[in-house]
Amino acid sequence: MIYSGATLSLSKDSKGIARLVFDRKAESVNKFDRLAAGEMGDALDRLEAEQNVAGLLVSSAKDVFVVGADIGEFTAVFKEDDCKIAAHLGVQSNNLRRLEKLPCPVVVAINGFALGGGFEICLACDFRVASATAAVGLPETGLGIIPGWGGTVRAPRICGVDKALEWITSGGRQKAATALECGAVDYVAEPEELAAKAEAVLQQAIAGELDYRAARAVKEQSSTGVLAEADSVKTQWQETIADKFGAHYPAQGYAFEAVFEGIDKSLDDALAVELRCFVKVARTDQAQAMVGNFMSGQYLMKVAKTRARAVAEPVEKVAVLGAGIMGGGIACQSAFTGIPAIMKDIAQEGLDLGMEEAGKLLSKRVKRGSMTGEKKAAVLAAIAPTLEYEGFGEVDVLVEAVVENIEVKHAVLTEAESKMRASSVLCSNTSTLPITELAKPLQRPEQFCGMHFFNPVHAMPLVEVIRGEQTSEETVNKTVAYALALKKKPVVVNDCAGFLVNRLLFAYFAGFAQLIQDGADYEAVDQAMEKWGWPMGPAYLADVVGLDTMQHCDGVLCAAYPRRLAKDFPAWYQVIMDMGGLGQKNGTGFYNYSMADGRPAKIVNAEAKARIAELAQPAKAFSGGEIVERLMTGMAIEMAYALEEGIVASPAEGDMSLLYGIGFPRFRGGLARWMDTAGMDTFVKMADKYVDALGPLYEVTERQREMAAKGETYYDCKGYS
Ligand code: NAD
Repeated sequence: MIYSGATLSLSKDSKGIARLVFDRKAESVNKFDRLAAGEMGDALDRLEAEQNVAGLLVSSAKDVFVVGADIGEFTAVFKEDDCKIAAHLGVQSNNLRRLEKLPCPVVVAINGFALGGGFEICLACDFRVASATAAVGLPETGLGIIPGWGGTVRAPRICGVDKALEWITSGGRQKAATALECGAVDYVAEPEELAAKAEAVLQQAIAGELDYRAARAVKEQSSTGVLAEADSVKTQWQETIADKFGAHYPAQGYAFEAVFEGIDKSLDDALAVELRCFVKVARTDQAQAMVGNFMSGQYLMKVAKTRARAVAEPVEKVAVLGAGIMGGGIACQSAFTGIPAIMKDIAQEGLDLGMEEAGKLLSKRVKRGSMTGEKKAAVLAAIAPTLEYEGFGEVDVLVEAVVENIEVKHAVLTEAESKMRASSVLCSNTSTLPITELAKPLQRPEQFCGMHFFNPVHAMPLVEVIRGEQTSEETVNKTVAYALALKKKPVVVNDCAGFLVNRLLFAYFAGFAQLIQDGADYEAVDQAMEKWGWPMGPAYLADVVGLDTMQHCDGVLCAAYPRRLAKDFPAWYQVIMDMGGLGQKNGTGFYNYSMADGRPAKIVNAEAKARIAELAQPAKAFSGGEIVERLMTGMAIEMAYALEEGIVASPAEGDMSLLYGIGFPRFRGGLARWMDTAGMDTFVKMADKYVDALGPLYEVTERQREMAAKGETYYDCKGYS
């Protein structure tokens, strides 16, 4: 053994074959942090000093090669000055450069995943041999940054500019076979033959049958073919990046800059360009937010997994009450993830519709090639539609998803409880009804909680697990375990009207309603909010949710928070409902909907617009900036309340709930992050601008004023993390 560290080891055998093996102690994966980069530098010092090294084989002793850089280190590093960010990256960048200057061939065996920095190590090796089951890729733009260890320089030279930019801007994972096609890897071997194949390739290179110097030359300077390709695809990529990512996702633009500015330079000069671009992108608010999202997502899963581990018995069988949009979706997701579900309704038509919808959803997957016909049949067979209570004695968890009416829910829940065994857990998918209220007639209220899914169930990651006053921690844990088994992202919240997400959302809609009353054009409001980053503006979203549902939820939330949410002007959803509009479900709402090319197309509903104009203040044009401020401020203050009241435990969980539940713009990182980015002082001044004219919706909390005075942020503030 030449070198042995906590993250890697280096050895040399009698034939002069050196082996650099990544094997991080006490962790399941290899990643590149300061420690690993330092150790790699030390190992390279020893290797460079060794005599008679015939070749180097790089591999991993774990199930995966290297998952990438340690993102956790980025959060602190990105707050440092440019020189420190550059110095942080420079250590590993230098290591990779040293790899490709060794006086012997270097071959890497890639197993499992080689992502980001993990794949950049591979690109610095002369020959890449991948396991047939391996995946490689450069996912950095998904974190709002760009590859910083040569990915934007070596990848275009090895596999072409077009392919490299496709990989970098999408951030996707690529299968070994795909990587082989474009030369990102040189060989693919069956997993059990990977080590032998890598050894054989190294032997060939040592014997001169493979020219490792030629492999290096490809990277030192772009070939004329690559330069010509760069010329031919540049304009098209410029347009694609501007159209698809624009100013909200600057990382893709910086990746473009790094690739095209570096393409005709020497490898070292191009690496300097990449570093300059990396430092610039690291300082953007978007990078801070998206790296933050990654860390928050990890935190959320850690909290959820800790809860799930505390559950004595796994969730093996469930029942769903109500085969409608939500019940059908929950039963299907359950069956799909391997947990058989009984699906009970009071109407045969409901059951038929539920099964039909599940069938349609699964057929789409079969058509896309992501599911086999057999798997589809097995999933459908794991849903047991019924009008009776048979089998309820064996279920571990029951999710109620019948109509949103407290009397009906009380009746259904008490009846179901009597059919279930004493240890089972009962949940409600209610959107608005307080869990503590729903628990009142139950025999075992401690075994009852909310389990709030988002529509469509298969696509939306968030599940709010709502703790009522009497809910036991065991019940919460079991529900979290079930949500995890469904491959969802559970966030535990305390009970209140609207729970977390709908409470925040209806503060946003309160800002929207007031703006309409003040003469704004709702189409312009939608445009401004979409430009800000929402997937759809509020009028369009209301149509998608359904105006009757909106009206109902708004009523419940206004009654619960009258000071901030109650209105003294017309309820716009009701106004349109009085004209026969229910939103997308009956083809008319704020917009009229028709089918074009198999997709719903929308045009503004001129009659609805005219009716609103009659009832609201005279038409007035608002700037995009004012529209955004008026909609987002009340919502952000509601987040402050939710944190201060302990409805949600941390800014990380609050923000991720918005990203996972309602498509909050990822590059903004959530509401707490948005306030942090602006600075609480700036946020408070903005809210104060509106409070006199518009009332308590814009009144910040005392705690927010204190944070502004002390210069505190949510994410750095001990009370909230
Ligand atoms: P839905 O109208 O599509 O389905 C309700 C189903 O419940 C119907 O099939 C009905 O026949 C059945 N049902 C009524 N009484 C029953 C009973 N006594 N026993 C068994 N089945 C009965 O409604 P949905 O949109 O699926 O909503 C269900 C619940 O989920 C509601 O509480 C709603 O607030 C909540 N929710 C809805 C959404 C959404 O976007 N639709 C999102 C989150 C939560």
